[in-house]
Amino acid sequence: EFWLTGRSTYLRIDLDIILHNIRILKERCSPETEVMAVIKANAYGHGSVAVARHLSANGIRHFAVATAAEGQELRQAGIKDFIQVFGNCVGEEVNIMQHFHLTPTVTTETFLNHWISWRSMNRVNVHFPVPPVVIKVDSGMSRNGCQPEELPKLMAICRKNGVPVHSLMTHFAQAWDDEEFTKCQLDTFLKAAEPYRGTGIKLQAANSAAIIRGFATDLDIVRPGICIYGLPPDLSQEAVQTVQRLGLRPALSWIAHPNMVKVLPPGRHVGYDQTYVLDKEESIATFSVGYADGYSRLLSEKGVLSTSSGQMQSVVGRVSMDAITVRVEPGTSPATPFYVYTDDLTSPNSVTGVARVTNTIPYEVLTSLATRLPRIYV
Ligand code: PLP
Repeated sequence: EFWLTGRSTYLRIDLDIILHNIRILKERCSPETEVMAVIKANAYGHGSVAVARHLSANGIRHFAVATAAEGQELRQAGIKDFIQVFGNCVGEEVNIMQHFHLTPTVTTETFLNHWISWRSMNRVNVHFPVPPVVIKVDSGMSRNGCQPEELPKLMAICRKNGVPVHSLMTHFAQAWDDEEFTKCQLDTFLKAAEPYRGTGIKLQAANSAAIIRGFATDLDIVRPGICIYGLPPDLSQEAVQTVQRLGLRPALSWIAHPNMVKVLPPGRHVGYDQTYVLDKEESIATFSVGYADGYSRLLSEKGVLSTSSGQMQSVVGRVSMDAITVRVEPGTSPATPFYVYTDDLTSPNSVTGVARVTNTIPYEVLTSLATRLPRIYV
C-alpha cells in the first residue's frame, strides 16, 4: 500500500485504536460525562481531518483545536460537531470563528468585546447563528484564563449581550504527580463556577492525566489529548505502566524502507561532519527520513530502528534534513521494512523512548511529525 504514497516512508495510523482509547477513558468518568477529543496540532501529528471524521462517525460530538485556522480546516472537511478553539483566543481570530461556527475560549474582556462587535456585523452578513463561548478560569496555572474574581464580570457581559455560554473550564498544571495542587486548582475552579451551576452551563477541567488520576471526571466534559493516542502524559515508568495496564494503545507507528544499502569497507566516514568511521566492513542503509520529517537531529548516533522481528539497528552518523544512515544486517534490501517508531511503549524506538533520548516529552515527538510524511489510515 505504501507505494501509493510516493515515498519509502509513512506513518501508519489505526483510527479504531483512538476510538478504543477514548472508550477506555470514558469508562473512568461519570456515565453522563462527554469526551471532547483534543485534536489540536493536527491531532498530535495523527492528522486532524482523518481523526475527526472517524471519531465523528462513531459518536464523538466535541472536538478541540488550538487555533481558528485548525477549526476552519475541520469545518471545510465537513465536520459539523462542536469545535472549541483553545488557547488565548485573540481578536484576529474572531471573524473566522464566527463564520465557521467555532467556539472560542474566552479569557479576557477585550476578546469578549471583539466577539460581541463582530457578532452584530456577522448577524447581518451571515445566515447562521453565532456559536456559544467557553470561559476559561485560571485556577493556578497562571497561563491562559481569567482570574476567578473576573468571572462574574465576564458572565455579566455575556448575559447583557445575549452571548450564550456553553461551559466554564480550567486546565491543570500537573495532574499526574501533584495531587495536592490539582485538588487546590479544582477547588478554586468549582468555587468560581458555583453560582452558575444548574443553569445549563457545563463544566470542564480534566485532561488525560486528570482522567487517569480521577480528578474532575464527574464534570460534564473531559478533554483528553495524549491518552486518546495511547501515550502516557508523563515519562515515568509508573505512567507508562499505568497506560499499558489500562489497555491504552499507541495508534501510530512510523515505517520506512531503505532507499539503498551499501557495503562499505573499513575506514569510510558516514554523513555530515564525518562523525562515524567504519572500523570494519559494514552494511549501511540510507532511509528517506530526516529532521525535516520530525526525526530529531538529537538522535544522531543515538537513534535505533527495529526490524519486524524486533532486532534493533543503530543510526550512525548525523541525522540530515532528509536522510538517516543506519547500520543494518548484511542482506538487508529496500524491500525490508523497518520501524522508525514502533507502537511498543517499552521499546527505545517508541515515541516514549525517543522522548527520553531527546530529553523531551511524547507530545513534542508526536507534534514534530511533519505534514509531508504520508499517513496511511487503517
Ligand atoms: N485541555 C487543554 C486546555 C489543553 O491545552 C490540552 C492540551 O494541552 C488538553 C486539554 C489535553 O491535554 P492532554 O494531552 O495532556 O490530555
